[in-house]
Amino acid sequence: MKKYGALEAGGTKMVCALGLSDGTILDQTSIPTTTPEETVNRIADYFRGTEIVALGVATFGPVDVKKGSPTYGRILNTPKLAWQNYDLLSALKQRIPVPMEIDTDVNGSCLGELTFGCAKGLDSVIYITIGTGVGVGIAINGQLMHGMLHPEAGHILLNKHPKDTYKGKCPFHPNCMEGLCAGPANEERWGAKAETLQDRQEVWELEAYYIAQAAVNFICTLSPRKIILGGGVMHQEQLFPLIRQKTKEMLNGYIDTAELRDMENYIVPASLHDDQGIMGAVQLAKWAENGTDNRVF
Ligand SMILES: [Zn+2]
Repeated sequence: MKKYGALEAGGTKMVCALGLSDGTILDQTSIPTTTPEETVNRIADYFRGTEIVALGVATFGPVDVKKGSPTYGRILNTPKLAWQNYDLLSALKQRIPVPMEIDTDVNGSCLGELTFGCAKGLDSVIYITIGTGVGVGIAINGQLMHGMLHPEAGHILLNKHPKDTYKGKCPFHPNCMEGLCAGPANEERWGAKAETLQDRQEVWELEAYYIAQAAVNFICTLSPRKIILGGGVMHQEQLFPLIRQKTKEMLNGYIDTAELRDMENYIVPASLHDDQGIMGAVQLAKWAENGTDNRVF
């Protein structure tokens, strides 16, 4: 059986895996993200001798994902200085001579859910990860969305809750989604580690208030058929009913579709046991092998 290589490149770790066409993960390992050279060499060591036919890369960004661009496959102006302008795709290609496809980490997760998970067969879907940061993968009309760069929708601006005096964690925006509701923002706002916040209702009410606002903004702009929420913060399952309820309240009946009438199946948790990113990278590898141009179907 053909083996596909999958790389989920993150700011703190690189997840490397071998997968099959149906998304089965045969083997998976994690390598700490250090200097670009050292990290890429260790990734190449992992894939050496595995006989992968192609490699899919879902990476942290910002990254140039526009084919034909002179800087295609490069990491752009990341705060991780050693990685700034690093030509990740070329460095991988030099060491691992197989076809490759690259996209953002969140588009990768979105693709994983579209191909193997709860969004199978849907043409327009968004995947929001809420963890140490917030990112949004977007598939519209059967295609992963890129645009001039790629969406950075974790930084959409939200209305502050009138009782929330927290200044926000993002150094760029006082009231963006990531700065208000990623894990580090919650820990700073409440002065406590996430594990100790579980039973505090006000924490999750406020969190749901912000996530619901984001959901409403995405519903009104992108009209997704499903909204998938993943990442560490979303392991707090008590958030889901709160988010669904508040989304309904904020939409206030303005949009009426079969999907929105079925909120339980509209705003849903990630369905692939936190393997959505790496499975999406397997699908990217399949695209690389077949030369499919960024079409989900
Ligand atoms: Zn921001």
